[in-house]
Amino acid sequence: MWGYANVAIIGIDLGTVNSVIAHLDEDQKPVTIHNAEGDITTPSVVLFDPAGIVVGKEALKAAAIEPEIVAAFAKREMGEPEFSKPIAGHRLPPEVVQSFVLRKLREDASLVLGEVTQAVITVPAFFNEPRRKATQDAGRLAGLDVIDIINEPTAAAIAFGVHRGFLSSRGTAMQAELVLVYDLGGGTFDVTLMRIDGQHFEAVATAGDVYLGGIDWDTALAEHIAGEFQQQFGFDLREDAAATQRLLQDAEDAKRALSQRMEVTLPVECGGQRARYKVSRGKFEELTTALLDRTRFTTTKMLQEAGVAWGDLTRILLVGGSTRMPMVHAMLERESGIKPDRSISPDEAVAHGAAIYAGMLQSLAAGERPKLSV
Ligand code: AMP
Repeated sequence: MWGYANVAIIGIDLGTVNSVIAHLDEDQKPVTIHNAEGDITTPSVVLFDPAGIVVGKEALKAAAIEPEIVAAFAKREMGEPEFSKPIAGHRLPPEVVQSFVLRKLREDASLVLGEVTQAVITVPAFFNEPRRKATQDAGRLAGLDVIDIINEPTAAAIAFGVHRGFLSSRGTAMQAELVLVYDLGGGTFDVTLMRIDGQHFEAVATAGDVYLGGIDWDTALAEHIAGEFQQQFGFDLREDAAATQRLLQDAEDAKRALSQRMEVTLPVECGGQRARYKVSRGKFEELTTALLDRTRFTTTKMLQEAGVAWGDLTRILLVGGSTRMPMVHAMLERESGIKPDRSISPDEAVAHGAAIYAGMLQSLAAGERPKLSV
């Protein structure tokens, strides 16, 4: 028997930009756990304040003011001996930085569930052994017993599969599936082709771009607006760091609104001048089409190398906040002829899958656990 039959095990999506935690409720349904600030996502950012370590939203805010004592994007460096940026003169291993994020997640989960000590943590499918081991070590340093590490696309497939009914609650596929998991987050793009046969989950191929994500869509829109402003007033607001920062934030808000509406208005204020610019969804898509094309090329190339045509896919699962953009669904549907599955919130799918998998480990007898191969 497993040694954790009756304890709460959490699923952790330990992201590059944001992390999410989930558990199974009494009905065995995955539920996202809100952090101590009341949010469902926690920025994976650590502030090494002399008064103590701070993780999450507060640390992210501090990054603009005290960048020398803030560590972000440590996930990109997992498996390296040292984090590239010295923090207050010290060189820390990346897993130590990540362990602070995990400790906050564990503590926040414990506020809701009572003392939590066990977790399943997800990692990108392309993580090699040293990076997986570093993730495991980060968990241990955070006081967690990491009962398994699973691939993010596998976790997403489990969450959608159980929700949609193409997997049983024990993780067995009703029929063979060839699934594309398209994950476009804030700063990274990952795409994985998965074959699911019975209880066998295989990541057949994986590709991506560690420097492509929602932030690039924000920047493209901000650049366009700054250009309009310059034409109108004859000076470049990008020379003003605070105005640029504000514009980037407003561009992100406008981008999100454009996922719901066909037109938004973006206010700009700099150097005593004010203006409002209308942006249509069509214009936004035109400005960012090259970015979307990069994800299309990467996906097509990966499929070609795996000897799979777009039309062979049985499902497309969307993960990552940026997949809320209508241009993403439209492109994927155009290429594949199938409607991408958007039935689970793209921010929560991976954590939910990790929680479901943790539940499977808890309830299944040894030998029956799904086989998750890389
Ligand atoms: P993640 O890294 O998965 O948390 O994704 C965060 C990214 O998703 C950020 O770039 C957000 O701006 C983006 N995002 C969140 N909601 C939306 C939305 N409704 N429309 C477009 N992008 C969004």
